[in-house]
Amino acid sequence: MRHVAKAICLRAWDYSETSQILALLTRESGVVRVIAKGIKRPKSKSGGMVDLLAEGNMVYSQKNVSSLGTLVEFRESISRAALRRQGKSLAAGIYAVELAGEMLAEHDPHPDVYDLLSGTLRRLEGEACPVQAVLAWYQWRLLRFVGLLGGLTHCCACEEDVSHFAHHAGVFFSSRLGGLLCDGCEADEAEKHHVAPVALGAIASLLANEQGQRASLGETQAGQVNRLLHYHIVHQLGKALRSARYVLPREQI
Ligand SMILES: [Zn+2]
Repeated sequence: MRHVAKAICLRAWDYSETSQILALLTRESGVVRVIAKGIKRPKSKSGGMVDLLAEGNMVYSQKNVSSLGTLVEFRESISRAALRRQGKSLAAGIYAVELAGEMLAEHDPHPDVYDLLSGTLRRLEGEACPVQAVLAWYQWRLLRFVGLLGGLTHCCACEEDVSHFAHHAGVFFSSRLGGLLCDGCEADEAEKHHVAPVALGAIASLLANEQGQRASLGETQAGQVNRLLHYHIVHQLGKALRSARYVLPREQI
């Protein structure tokens, strides 16, 4: 069966001298894997090599969801040339596509994640882009869309309001429980990550943004919340992301 989809390239492997295997996030069908036969030949009919981060319109055929698809054509619709020239933004873009590929199951449609990733890559192209803030919003919303982020205003064990802890020594976050823990509950939980007051301030800004209020995030604040969200992701996946070291400060990995 032949499919037409908007797609972003999440990963590309060499399969033979002339062919590649691609993992792409499609807007319509979630993550799909296809073989791109002969794509590395100079006169490939399918549109030429598909680079990581490339976004465009794809035609592919696939017998069923458990089989590897075959790429018929990929036409890039959005140039990533500006992004590829900026080291920090490029590293963040590579982290963003790796994260999407790890967090989503194949053939589980998530148009919300597709739009988020597309918008994030576009924002990263901007001059003087606040990379950590863009990444914080991306990680936050991705976790929200896949159902791994709770309310984060109350303790997830006893439901006490934790917002006032922002003025003290901070609170703890449990990835297993998917939320914050108050002073009284954190001692009972072995798996936890300290959330400093500055990160709680960042969480308040992200929650406000979700409510449609414009709340800006400083790069230091954003770095702190990225540290927390990365901790959650590593715990959920059971492994670190390969590209994390290039985008998060060393102490945050
Ligand atoms: Zn509690």
